Amino acid sequence: MRFFIPFSFMSYTKSLKNTLKTALTSFFTLGALHAINAATIQESKWEQGQTLLTFFEKNAIPLKTYYDLAPEDKELADEIISGSTYYTLYDDNTLLQALIPINENAQLHIFKQGDKYGMRAIPIVYFSKEHTVSLSVDNSLYNDIIRLTGDSFLAGDFIQAYRGSVDFRREIRKGDQLAIIYERKYRLGKNFGAPNIKASTLRVNNRNQYVVRHDDGHLYDLNGNNLSKYLLTVPLHYKRISSHFSMGRKHPILGYKRPHLGTDYAAPRHTPIRASGNGKVIFAGTKGGYGKTVIIQHENGYKTLYAHMQKIDVRNGAVVKQGRKIGTVGSTGLSTGPHLHFGLYRNGNAVNPIKHLKIAHSKLKGKEKDNFIANAKIYRDALNIALQKESKDAPFKLKKGGYVVYLSTDENPN
Ligand SMILES: [Zn+2]
Repeated sequence: MRFFIPFSFMSYTKSLKNTLKTALTSFFTLGALHAINAATIQESKWEQGQTLLTFFEKNAIPLKTYYDLAPEDKELADEIISGSTYYTLYDDNTLLQALIPINENAQLHIFKQGDKYGMRAIPIVYFSKEHTVSLSVDNSLYNDIIRLTGDSFLAGDFIQAYRGSVDFRREIRKGDQLAIIYERKYRLGKNFGAPNIKASTLRVNNRNQYVVRHDDGHLYDLNGNNLSKYLLTVPLHYKRISSHFSMGRKHPILGYKRPHLGTDYAAPRHTPIRASGNGKVIFAGTKGGYGKTVIIQHENGYKTLYAHMQKIDVRNGAVVKQGRKIGTVGSTGLSTGPHLHFGLYRNGNAVNPIKHLKIAHSKLKGKEKDNFIANAKIYRDALNIALQKESKDAPFKLKKGGYVVYLSTDENPN
């Protein structure tokens, strides 16, 4: 196997505890700073079945705090992903602060203020870094990418991009080459979320194939032809979109805007809701603020969520085809009127459904196409250079739990 990574990498030298302390310290008011040294920070995994309510109970937070939350905040509480890493800060046994992620960009910040607790959704502070890797196939594409980077998401996303154009079992030979330019997010010394592959190439049968991601999130070849296969369709006939997907970015005047991790389609009660793609029902029942909810697991790491339903017509475990009626529009859970809250998750992370659904006009045209092609050429050249260089060892590796270990020490992420 040959490796090549042209960018300089950072060392992760500070102890995690110090890093956490720095991160959490930024949430303290100056008056409370003296409390930090006595406080202890913990990193934990959000257990399966744990809810914000049980978290409040466990930490002796008055339940009134939960019941007083705005409906939108309770809806966000249902977005906490089990298995995700969250941070708590205790003084003796009193919870002072907690940071609980709800997706790659936003987290719930719970804080003690006098005798009371407050909660709001705030952006996750992270930095992202672009990496370039290349290798010659030794064992299998998938295993070789994981051996080089420790990143199974990266391996899965790479293979996904070439599915349909390459027959992996028959066409891939030992010595075939690949190169990937991608971006990774890092937070508190660990990578998190999914990689964003910006461009890649796979050399098979002495021919290079290139795939480049455009700003619209779709994959194209070097000539601007769309390669996306549109797995998913709009799940109902709707009147209008009453609320768009939002990451909850900082508003310059109003402060923080709350995230909304799905698309709300306004439609009359009893309107049929149809499976957005082929898949398997992995949840059918009541889910906190989302009311009657169905979740379908699709291929390629996609999940769809349908909330506030009036009636559910499928059972947990059912295999469904795209377009199959799974229930009807309602207003169950915390909802102000009949609508479908439609959520889309890629590798467990909420993404904007609109960007991933089948759309009629997906061809690049005019200036946009010219710009794309010019940009794609830059990526092609960078990938070609990567294919030519050799390196025996990767300068970094993801370890268990997502920790990034940098073997070179010229930069420090903090
Ligand atoms: Zn919604």
